[in-house]
Amino acid sequence: VKVVEKTITKRGGTIYKGTRAERYELASSGALAVTIATGNETKKIECDQVLVAVGMKPRSKGIGLEEIGVKIDPRGFITTDDRCETAAKGVFAIGDVSGPPMLAHKATKEGEICAEVIAGKPAAKDWVTIPGIIFTDPEIATVGLTEQQAKDQKLNVKVGRFPFAALGRAMSIGETDGFVKVVTDVDSGRVVGIHIVGPNASDLISEGALALETVASAEDIALTVHPHPTLGEALMEASAASLGHAIHIVNR
Ligand SMILES: Cc1cc2nc3c(=O)[nH]c(=O)nc-3n(C[C@H](O)[C@H](O)[C@H](O)COP(=O)(O)OP(=O)(O)OC[C@H]3O[C@@H](n4cnc5c(N)ncnc54)[C@H](O)[C@@H]3O)c2cc1C
Repeated sequence: VKVVEKTITKRGGTIYKGTRAERYELASSGALAVTIATGNETKKIECDQVLVAVGMKPRSKGIGLEEIGVKIDPRGFITTDDRCETAAKGVFAIGDVSGPPMLAHKATKEGEICAEVIAGKPAAKDWVTIPGIIFTDPEIATVGLTEQQAKDQKLNVKVGRFPFAALGRAMSIGETDGFVKVVTDVDSGRVVGIHIVGPNASDLISEGALALETVASAEDIALTVHPHPTLGEALMEASAASLGHAIHIVNR
């Protein structure tokens, strides 16, 4: 089988691009035999485990919601306002069914807001960012705008990158794959996005979320003393790089 696009990862794994996994069965060896199709050709590869990631969709139809005035959008998500209230007064919706991002921490935050609104408190969905994480190896974590999204919004963008390969803690734990990327709006000085690929990205991204929520500038992060040797230093270093003040890498 000619596999048109295939990438061997640094860790020896294989990524088949442009390929569809069609079915799997138990091979005589006891392994899982997965049938993959690339173009018109198919073949079987033996795997230890199969991860099924089919996506999610809301189940909002056929349970009487529209009959009481709740509005449902064409994709099946319940329409809510910034107070989590639906088009039917006194009926609220939170979490996945009220629209993306379909993430647990977004659902939790909406649950809190919704409870406060129902209790008569002044609350609304006014967050700056919902962090997103892909729990792969290395991990990928992101908050705010990507460089391209910032450019699309006509922001005057400056980017700072710092590779984990240049960070003492990453070297000491043997996890040097990846980088931190800080996207700033030059005119306001604000950090508008932080993106991390690398060790503990899922934990590190909370500093990025705090930076966006508190309208921090790249200078704020760069001037904040980060303890050494830690992975968090990569955020400080990437912020400094965005200002052209990098010390441990070449300023470009
Ligand atoms: C495999 C998997 C992994 C995930 N991993 C992550 C992760 O790492 N991080 C992350 O942030 N998010 C993750 N998510 C997403 C996260 O689980 C959801 O965003 C979160 O659970 C949404 O909360 P929710 O309350 O809106 O919905 P749910 O947690 O789905 O709760 C909805 C509840 O309503 C019930 N229900 C449905 N229909 C009816 C009905 N007609 N009547 C009564 N009850 C009903 C359901 O049984 C369910 O208990 C993952 C999801 C999946 C499927």
